[in-house]
Amino acid sequence: MRIGIDLGGTNIAGGVLNDSGELLCAKSIPTDAQRPYSEVIHDMGLLAVELAQMAGTSIDSVESVGVGSPGTPHKETGNILYSNNLGWENVPLVQELGRYIPVPIRLDNDANCAALGEYAAGAAKGCRSAVMVTFGTGVGGGIVLDGKIHSGFNSAGGEIGHMVIVSGGVRCTCGRKGCWESYASATALIRMGNDAADRNPRSLLASMRQRDRLNGRLIFDAAQKGDAAANQVIKGYIWYMAEGITNLVNIFQPEAIVLGGGICAQGDYIVNPIREYVAQGVFCKQVALPRMVTATLGNDAGIIGAALL
Ligand SMILES: [Zn+2]
Repeated sequence: MRIGIDLGGTNIAGGVLNDSGELLCAKSIPTDAQRPYSEVIHDMGLLAVELAQMAGTSIDSVESVGVGSPGTPHKETGNILYSNNLGWENVPLVQELGRYIPVPIRLDNDANCAALGEYAAGAAKGCRSAVMVTFGTGVGGGIVLDGKIHSGFNSAGGEIGHMVIVSGGVRCTCGRKGCWESYASATALIRMGNDAADRNPRSLLASMRQRDRLNGRLIFDAAQKGDAAANQVIKGYIWYMAEGITNLVNIFQPEAIVLGGGICAQGDYIVNPIREYVAQGVFCKQVALPRMVTATLGNDAGIIGAALL
């Protein structure tokens, strides 16, 4: 049995995986990230111990504990170099957690863990390679090649949301201009929706905004009801999604591209046009395209992937 812990800015979610890769039990506790890091890590240790008991075993009998953390973890030292979400810098996570857990502890980035989870047990199961893209507040991702997460010699790679797709474009949270994240995140979709509502005060989009703050789902709803302004926003947004995915296909030609994040609840409504744009834009048109699929494990992906590190 293995334990996976998905450390988030809001919650710490953990679960126990059996030898067939099935999630036996799971539990989530609040992170309360403002506390000193030693207290957060103490709670992670207690959670792992409790999870082992829930699965009918003890913590010293599990094979390993894996942790998916936001930000940039250093796999070899076990330190979190930097995490914006947690407000952590150079936190010796593995060393501290080792005070409560007597088995090997492995560490990686949370987006990489989600990708590994979908690769091993979700939408990309059975594929040799996969790139997962999560379209949320930002654009995150993970690259899995032949069963291994690819994150560069220093564990800081795989930041696919920060490839520039519009040189000199909208300023990104990372400081550069025109990153994919600034055009394909849910945050970007809402920005584009608000701009369109400003320009089209008689649109359904604008009247929706008078009742509610715009979110991704409302913009999709307005488009599906035939609102021209919303349709233009969605068309542009899907095109930006596809621009980045085409880059990923050209570079990696993974067997599967897994689309994750809330926006992917739209299913074929976004997947079909993305597939078409990618087919038109990809460099080599003589080979089969990667499978393009939406994530199937939801929040469990991060737990399962962490357990499999
Ligand atoms: Zn950026």
